[in-house]
Amino acid sequence: MDRLMVTVSGVRGTIGQSLTPLAACQFGLTFGTILGRGKTVVVGADTRPSGPMLRGAILSGLLATGVNVVDLGVASTPAIALATRRLRADGGIIITASHNPIEYNGIKFLQPTGTGLDAQGAADLKAVWEASGWTLADSLGQGRLTSDDTAAAAHVEAVCNAYDVAAIATKRFTVVVDSVNGAGCGETPMLLQRLGCRLIHINSQPHGLFAHPPEPVEENISELLQAVRDNHADVGFAQDADADRLAIVDETGRFIGEEYTLALAAGYALARRPGPVATNLVTSRMIDDVAAAAGARVVRAPTGEANVISALLAHGCVFAGEGGGGAIDPAVGLTRDSLVGIACLLGRLADTDASVSQLVDSIPRYVMRKTKMPCPLGAAEKVVALARSALACRPGATLNDADGLRVDLPGAWVAVRASNTEPILRIIAEAPDASTVDALVAQVTAIARTVIR
Ligand code: MG
Repeated sequence: MDRLMVTVSGVRGTIGQSLTPLAACQFGLTFGTILGRGKTVVVGADTRPSGPMLRGAILSGLLATGVNVVDLGVASTPAIALATRRLRADGGIIITASHNPIEYNGIKFLQPTGTGLDAQGAADLKAVWEASGWTLADSLGQGRLTSDDTAAAAHVEAVCNAYDVAAIATKRFTVVVDSVNGAGCGETPMLLQRLGCRLIHINSQPHGLFAHPPEPVEENISELLQAVRDNHADVGFAQDADADRLAIVDETGRFIGEEYTLALAAGYALARRPGPVATNLVTSRMIDDVAAAAGARVVRAPTGEANVISALLAHGCVFAGEGGGGAIDPAVGLTRDSLVGIACLLGRLADTDASVSQLVDSIPRYVMRKTKMPCPLGAAEKVVALARSALACRPGATLNDADGLRVDLPGAWVAVRASNTEPILRIIAEAPDASTVDALVAQVTAIARTVIR
């Protein structure tokens, strides 16, 4: 039996094992107790078959505390986040396990802004849940349940309002999208119709039976790569199951890597609205090059969407995102949004009259390595301390302790940190060439092996 993971990012577990209707109801009770009677929560889900079961249980818990619920049904994570803010709710809940396989589902809690809970909010939630400290309403105090089916259309409208739809539509792009039968199935065709595109939509049925593992990485999207070639498309897009992450395929059917989503999308946004960009400490330095070309600076925050959003708000950033295919435009919403990524990439193509591969070639190329290893509790701190002493003496080294350790060296960087959501240690490095990056990863891996045997 797996254990329910309760982290700053929310709750995640296996259906039929740890993530039961009882557990889901308890988290509804918990969130409702924290918000208090008379408050309003927006609830939506991705397309997983376990979504309705969890939604029923969560709604039960929320309503029993006297909290009113607006049920959005199936919608993407960015659409649910936007609805939370637009409907002036006191909180939101997204039922999704994002890019994880169908066996999993999860519960993500939102602030009224539509962004995830901060560290304090997550700690409060966990404390009330662990203590089973729920406050139940009496028969007259039960919450009201209403439904709202406007989330998808409002999301598409917000994206279209942020960009030059007419300029994109005149280009009549041919676009292939793989929505992995997830939450992007409904909203993405609506957006591409507005953008005047010819759409070839694969895995477009919102039944949640994923045609392949729903993480938009190269090994999962061979069908998309082939469809781009077969249809002589201008670009291909792969979404994850809740449609917040996006990967891009160039016009030759080549996967260009998830790190390019932020770099290319930011290039479009910064050309229209100059200003600083927020990202995390382990996102490719391509964003530094793109920002520098636009005369903008980059603010780096610890890993985690909530941290990046905090930095965005604190520094008045005009764009943000994370390296795993997540683009955030505060003009649309405070969450990663694959529709933002799609619109910005098409806008960049329209503005420049370049192909996707030409846009890729216009950004300096780096080699990035991301590795992970199982890591017992407490071991990460020891690895970080040893790595710090080993790397601090390298010529030109700059250390950043905000999230594990990141060491910038002339022309390269390496980071080592514990995952927020899993008992693993991540080692990530980037350099202009493979031998430099591999040597950095090998050095830190060897240090980690002295602690984790
Ligand atoms: Mg996701």
